[in-house]
Amino acid sequence: HFESVGFIGLGNMGSRMANNLLKAGYKVTVHDVNCNVMKMYSDMGVSTKQTPFEVAEASEVVITMLPSSSHVLEVYNGPNGLLHGGSLLTPRLLIDSSTIDPQTSRKLSVSVSNCTLKDTKDNWESPLMLDAPVSGGVVAAEAGTLTFMVGGSEDAYLAAKSLLLSMGKNAIFCGGPGTGSAAKICNNLAVAVSMLGVSEALALGQSLGITASTLTKIFNCSSARCWSSDSYNPVPGVMPGVPSSRNYSGGFASKLMAKDLNLAAASAEEVGVKSPLTFLAQNIYAEICENGHESEDFSCVFHHYYSGKGE
Ligand code: NAD
Repeated sequence: HFESVGFIGLGNMGSRMANNLLKAGYKVTVHDVNCNVMKMYSDMGVSTKQTPFEVAEASEVVITMLPSSSHVLEVYNGPNGLLHGGSLLTPRLLIDSSTIDPQTSRKLSVSVSNCTLKDTKDNWESPLMLDAPVSGGVVAAEAGTLTFMVGGSEDAYLAAKSLLLSMGKNAIFCGGPGTGSAAKICNNLAVAVSMLGVSEALALGQSLGITASTLTKIFNCSSARCWSSDSYNPVPGVMPGVPSSRNYSGGFASKLMAKDLNLAAASAEEVGVKSPLTFLAQNIYAEICENGHESEDFSCVFHHYYSGKGE
């Protein structure tokens, strides 16, 4: 459906996603506030623009991959933002893959649908927006195996599917605007809590005299089995190739987990849902960050419980 794709936000995730779009043959135009990143792309022969609005002018679809809600609002609504000029938009579709709160995703979707299309090729009455955050991290972004959780109009999802699958292996439609963002923060809330549960239990086991390796073996063929125990074990030396076995380097930074838990807590408060574990997890990750571990993988939470050597 789409040939020209704009990409804004070429950081750890976005640069790898944009590279996969280039590999898939899309005509890509990029923008980032970081001049070094822009230079790298122009040296590669990729078209770079100084503002989000100029990217929009050159693209049928624009993808954003930015740190947080405030950056996304700036790129959409700021001066020379994607929606600059009020109403007449060149892109038929705007996709935000940043992890942000569902409320902001919904507000942006309304702003986009209040705009008018310069060229009405698809019989869409207005430009459309999808919130399409990802799971998988930098390794999956590089390999093109991300999972996209997509909220918005189903028509827009169907039109975007092959584009998304050039950067990922799954694209799951979640429902109306904001449901992709909701899926992402709920997924990360569940992972944060399961990582805390596994860490707490393995630390207690060690203090009671059973090694983390033996207890993990038991978990993995018992009812405690989960991703945090069998694929991303938090105890150094229990599993090779995971962040806990390389001093918690690489992986998913604790500060990003803290950010996602803050989003979950704010959403729970807004809709009046009880969330005692969100609150606890939020406090524990805030403490980990304050203690200087904000760049370590989030499985370093094991050391919140156990200060020994691990396995
Ligand atoms: P990052 O900080 O590495 O990259 C963000 C990029 O956006 C940077 O290059 C920055 O210069 C650029 N930027 C910031 N403000 C801008 C603006 N106003 N205009 C243009 N460019 C701007 O972040 P990341 O790790 O790539 O993460 C991006 C998003 O993906 C975040 O919402 C994050 O939570 C989410 N996410 C990250 C991971 C991960 O493992 N890193 C995994 C899943 C989801």
